[in-house]
Amino acid sequence: MRLEDLPLRDDLKGKRPYGAPEHDVPVQLDTNENPYPPSKALVDDLAEEIRLSAADLNRYPDMNATLLREGLAAYLGHGLSADNVWAANGSNEVLQQILQAFGGHGRTALGFQPSYSMHPIITTGTNTAWVDGRREDDFTLDPGKAVAAIEEHRPDIVFLTSPNNPTGTALDLATVRAVLDAAPGMVVVDEAYAEFAREGTPSALTLLPGHPRLIVTRTMSKAFAMAGTRLGYMAAHPAVVQALLLVRLPYHLSTITQAAARVALRHSGELLGNVAALRQERDDTVEWLRVKGLTVADSDANFVLFGRFADRRAVWEGLLARGVLIREVGPPEWLRVSIGTGEEMAAFRAALEGVL
Ligand SMILES: *Cc1c(COP(=O)(O)O)cnc(C)c1O
Repeated sequence: MRLEDLPLRDDLKGKRPYGAPEHDVPVQLDTNENPYPPSKALVDDLAEEIRLSAADLNRYPDMNATLLREGLAAYLGHGLSADNVWAANGSNEVLQQILQAFGGHGRTALGFQPSYSMHPIITTGTNTAWVDGRREDDFTLDPGKAVAAIEEHRPDIVFLTSPNNPTGTALDLATVRAVLDAAPGMVVVDEAYAEFAREGTPSALTLLPGHPRLIVTRTMSKAFAMAGTRLGYMAAHPAVVQALLLVRLPYHLSTITQAAARVALRHSGELLGNVAALRQERDDTVEWLRVKGLTVADSDANFVLFGRFADRRAVWEGLLARGVLIREVGPPEWLRVSIGTGEEMAAFRAALEGVL
């Protein structure tokens, strides 16, 4: 029996599953994880919270994750409450629920490339049509052109990613506002890397009052150093939360996940303490690559896109042969390196010098 022999949906035939190539090398700088593992105090607190929750594991979890949503709202600030917040297994699941509620057959989503590859994958996976908008050659988004694309395609959902993956650049709020004013449907601002943004970069959360069709998504996978927990969330008008309740699976967020995420919030000081070090390491990496004569996109995230290489595959393979795994992603000629610890970045620099 082969995949081709199954009665698969026509639009999924020939598709490849999402996934970064996995290689067992010492320096893993390919998936934008936070390189710092939780402290012993956090691990102990986590173990204790899960021990307590375990006593109730014969019961389904709180299907509305109320305590966790209260904690997430308090973390976000901006006057938000649990009614404004929704959580799921990674922000990818939140995005899928948004597509299930606001997309679907006969509907359209628009995003601006190069950007996060999961946006079109989740869109088409929910039978929603995907339209590719373009960013400028320097990866900025021209608000006039964004509005023109919206007026041309009248999308039900617009995706903005800020800071953008894989380019690293954040959007200014004037651009987000222009998109909100023009969009006939929902506008999703994917802020997976918000905590890494350079000083003074405003969050789209500040636009929530007065914009009931705006959704801001966040995750614990990056700055929060909890990728293994699978916890993503969004903030929006309470009516948006009500819409997502219509499509979420019952009890989608396990008791254990909710407990782990609550503990992570309690330790947000420690977890975000490493963000300052990662930002510094990022800025140093950008500078070092530029001194080496490479082209580097400005970054508000925990990764750096650099190039340009006529044969980027050769550079990627050369690094891999030296024990450093980065990501071959983004426009041809560019490569993306996630920011690791000081030691890991030193290994990356040494390996890249070897390759060049
Ligand atoms: C990593 C990433 C996410 C996070 O996905 P999770 O499902 O929360 O792990 C979301 N959006 C973008 C742009 C990302 O790069």
